[in-house]
Amino acid sequence: MTNKQAAIKIIKRLSRDGFQALLAGGCVRDMLLGRPASDYDVATSAQPGDVIKLFRRTLKVGAKFGVVIVLLEDKQVEVATFRTETGYADGRHPSVVKFANAAEDASRRDFTINGMFYDPLREKVIDYVDGRADLKKELVRTIGKPKERFSEDYLRMLRAVRFSTQLGFAIEPLTWSAICSNAKNITKISGERIAIELEAILVNPNRSAGTSMLAKSGLAEAIFSGFVGEQAEFAVSVLGQLRKKVDFALALASLFAGCPTEFARERCQILKLSRSQNKHIKFLLTNRGKLLDEKMSLAELKMFLAGPYFWDLYELQRAIQKVKADAKEGIAALSKLRKRIKALGDVELRPKPLLNGHDLIRLGAVPGPALGQLSEEMYIAQLEGELQTPQQAQGWVQKWLQKHRMTEK
Ligand code: ATP
Ligand code: MG
Repeated sequence: MTNKQAAIKIIKRLSRDGFQALLAGGCVRDMLLGRPASDYDVATSAQPGDVIKLFRRTLKVGAKFGVVIVLLEDKQVEVATFRTETGYADGRHPSVVKFANAAEDASRRDFTINGMFYDPLREKVIDYVDGRADLKKELVRTIGKPKERFSEDYLRMLRAVRFSTQLGFAIEPLTWSAICSNAKNITKISGERIAIELEAILVNPNRSAGTSMLAKSGLAEAIFSGFVGEQAEFAVSVLGQLRKKVDFALALASLFAGCPTEFARERCQILKLSRSQNKHIKFLLTNRGKLLDEKMSLAELKMFLAGPYFWDLYELQRAIQKVKADAKEGIAALSKLRKRIKALGDVELRPKPLLNGHDLIRLGAVPGPALGQLSEEMYIAQLEGELQTPQQAQGWVQKWLQKHRMTEK
């Protein structure tokens, strides 16, 4: 059973009991565009209590707001009661949720293209908000007055850019000017919600156009204070050179490709990224330029290659070079690096050290910081290919100890 089949089964069951039930929102938009939908949501006249009674397995996650998850086999379908939402005093949470009819439910939604329903039993689109006309015109337009709709929930500004990026649609001029004049208010929205929409914009292949909208509207500067001018222009260009599929961390590092690492790290704090995402971004930004160094030692190259983010660093550097005026030199350095990597064959990047700590102590090294340094230097010599056997390593260590006078006695 597909998600869509599960949703239709639920709609049939609700209809049999006399409730109105329709596919709603994003899936209707995507069906009309002939695109795969990410999820199939059901909107219904049935109240949460009715839904819970009708289906054997449900999750009452948002029953207070009219949302119940219905479980069918391995599928989860969101079944939401037609509702209106009012009283957004804080620009993000509705204070009153009231159950309503389908037309009212359409008018609480964000954009006309997201405000349609589809009745799969009668095979009819139900469009109270002229969504179909805007789909044809390829426009993202708020339902109702843009200023009012954004002041209810400022996240919608970022969602407009997100849908424009994903669908390649323009933002309707009045909707756009309301975004520009309200951009600063995006800071009223939590970093986590901002991050979700920003990720959708930046991982999309159309990310460069999306970022250009973020910069021009003032949203980028509001989210990442001080991120303006040349830095933003550079970001738009670098993002335009990345391969199609990238993850959020690589895209964010590319966004900040023209900024100091510390600046980027501070700006990213608002997004509440995971530790590993922060580590990933830091690695990419602090190592900018390193891959262009043709004198990079073999040991350093092996250590880079053994790390998890090497090819992302390569991709970031490639995109940066494409944008820079002295592109050719950098690109040549990168292709040399590629050849060098190819020539390594399937050499072990992180072999076991030829001698361990006990071996070193047996050879006369004294435990402490110097031992750490010795073992690191020996390992580098090993990666460089200077040391191939434990015997060679022993000879090398003895010389090292003599030079550093680290033997006991
Ligand atoms: P996607 O395909 O990326 O999931 P979607 O259109 O389904 O896009 P969702 O965020 O899943 O977007 O939201 C589902 C629907 O709920 C939207 O199509 C829209 O009708 C409504 N909606 C979501 N967020 C808001 C909001 N902040 N304000 C008003 N309506 C919203
Ligand atoms: Mg959705």
